[in-house]
Amino acid sequence: MRLRILHFLLMVVVGLAAMNAVAEAPANSETKVVMLGTGTPNADPERSGPAVAIVVNETPYLVDFGPGVVRRAAAMSPAYGGSINGLAVENLKVAFLTHLHSDHSAGLPDLILTPWVLERDEPLQLYGPEGIEEMSSHILQAYEADIRYRIDGLEPANERGWQVDAHVLDDGVVYEDENVKVEAFRVQHGTWENAFGFRFTTADRVIVISGDAAPDANIEEYAQGADILIHEVYSDSGFARRDEIWQKYHSTNHTSASELGEIASRSKPKLLVLYHVLFWGSSEETVLDEVRQQYDGDVVLAKDLDVY
Ligand SMILES: [Zn+2]
Ligand SMILES: [Zn+2]
Repeated sequence: MRLRILHFLLMVVVGLAAMNAVAEAPANSETKVVMLGTGTPNADPERSGPAVAIVVNETPYLVDFGPGVVRRAAAMSPAYGGSINGLAVENLKVAFLTHLHSDHSAGLPDLILTPWVLERDEPLQLYGPEGIEEMSSHILQAYEADIRYRIDGLEPANERGWQVDAHVLDDGVVYEDENVKVEAFRVQHGTWENAFGFRFTTADRVIVISGDAAPDANIEEYAQGADILIHEVYSDSGFARRDEIWQKYHSTNHTSASELGEIASRSKPKLLVLYHVLFWGSSEETVLDEVRQQYDGDVVLAKDLDVY
């Protein structure tokens, strides 16, 4: 089949997905938060692009897919010595995008195509802000020759796993199944138009993820009493070493460690997890201290592949 025709099969659903009734979660429900990528646009080899997997009863739900996402998931799977079956590459089927910035989304071709090549046999369910359909259809166009070759050639590739069901996000409940309810809420990220945070509610945990955000009242509200708040941050002392032009950019687009300490002390998550950290020469301990000056709860600075 010609891919031009196949493009029409790209199932794009504009608006909210139809919600199923909440099913009963299994009694022994278990949620793990796996920090697949804790980085920023900086190409730190120790920190892949931002990506978090919420794994509920061995079903993974991704938030963001920065560069490296599929290999970081593979690292946690039994095939490569890990212990989380849910992160076997072919299980990567549902993903949520906070915003279309490249550091959070440059892994999308990888997430669409690699699990398919490794035998995922259903379309990727992709939830993201306005523009998500165009981003995925353009990626499929760019890889048209590859997809055709795998389907029409000798490779026993399936016909469905390369497809994308793209769903445009808005505020409110955007996804619900027997494992999880996912709510999206808008966050301020400079003048970027559509940036969201997410709250995941499972049978045993509530997890809130900021995405990229300046200090935001919505995050505080959604994170009230959460088990885990995963929040971006930059170092106050590092910031002081930046020049004025950059300071203006960072202070309107992102959240400083001291500001985050204040946010956390008001919303009181059981655990605050720092990721997407802009250090600018500060150490991990310094960033943690800068948060702790305003916040006396539990806080950790995540590394790639940390599990909470
Ligand atoms: Zn951003
Ligand atoms: Zn970012």
